[in-house]
Amino acid sequence: MGNIRLENVKKAFGDAIVIPDLDLEIENGEFVVFVGPSGCGKSTLLRLIAGLEDVTGGKIWINGRDATGEAPASRGLAMVFQTYALYPHMSVYKNIAFPLKMAGMDKKAIDDKVRGAAETLNLTDFLHRRPGQLSGGQRQRVAIGRAIVREPKAFLFDEPLSNLDAALRVAMRLEISELHHQLKTTMIYVTHDQVEAMTMADKIVVLRAGIIEQVGSPLDLYRSPRNRFVAGFIGSPK
Ligand code: ADP
Ligand code: MG
Repeated sequence: MGNIRLENVKKAFGDAIVIPDLDLEIENGEFVVFVGPSGCGKSTLLRLIAGLEDVTGGKIWINGRDATGEAPASRGLAMVFQTYALYPHMSVYKNIAFPLKMAGMDKKAIDDKVRGAAETLNLTDFLHRRPGQLSGGQRQRVAIGRAIVREPKAFLFDEPLSNLDAALRVAMRLEISELHHQLKTTMIYVTHDQVEAMTMADKIVVLRAGIIEQVGSPLDLYRSPRNRFVAGFIGSPK
């Protein structure tokens, strides 16, 4: 049983059809990367899965349950945004604790989870700081920490590294891959960067104009791109 399944998913904004008809199965624990040019519908697809947008047609299944009409909070997924969306007036500790506090968890349980996440992300020494006193990479880790404590069924990343400089991007790429090895939670990762796609993904989904051009492992896509578009995106010589 797939963890997340999209069945005949359609999305239009008014007359503009962004996703005509899309089927996709994501297995439990998989690291899936959506790749494609700007405007091809990557963010829209992620927002549909998260429940931040309603589908125009079709169904979204999560762990075998029809989640199509469900509110984002009921889906049990965690979205990590490209802009950090941290609360500037709160400490790192409070930023990470915030979703748990909202969920009504008691103080001791919150403390255990926040400290556990901080350890996983090497943030233990920064818990008292405010976001403004952190580097870009540290802020990104806090945003991930806030997602981790909720123990989501899947993490959804929308170009989380695009605001970082090149060296930091490489470091964070490794950290997110490492996190996936540790947690073994499904991750869906949107990027327009083929290096990120090739190095991080178990499975790459190549999108063009809301249509899946090809799905496969990095090696499959590199060796056997279905067409020039895929080849161009993956950087293989076809
Ligand atoms: P990507 O993330 O791949 O760059 P998006 O999913 O953001 O692409 O956008 C896909 C298409 O949908 C674009 O043409 C964009 O203009 C359009 N779009 C996205 N969100 C909205 C919206 N809320 N209202 C109208 N059009 C939108
Ligand atoms: Mg986008």
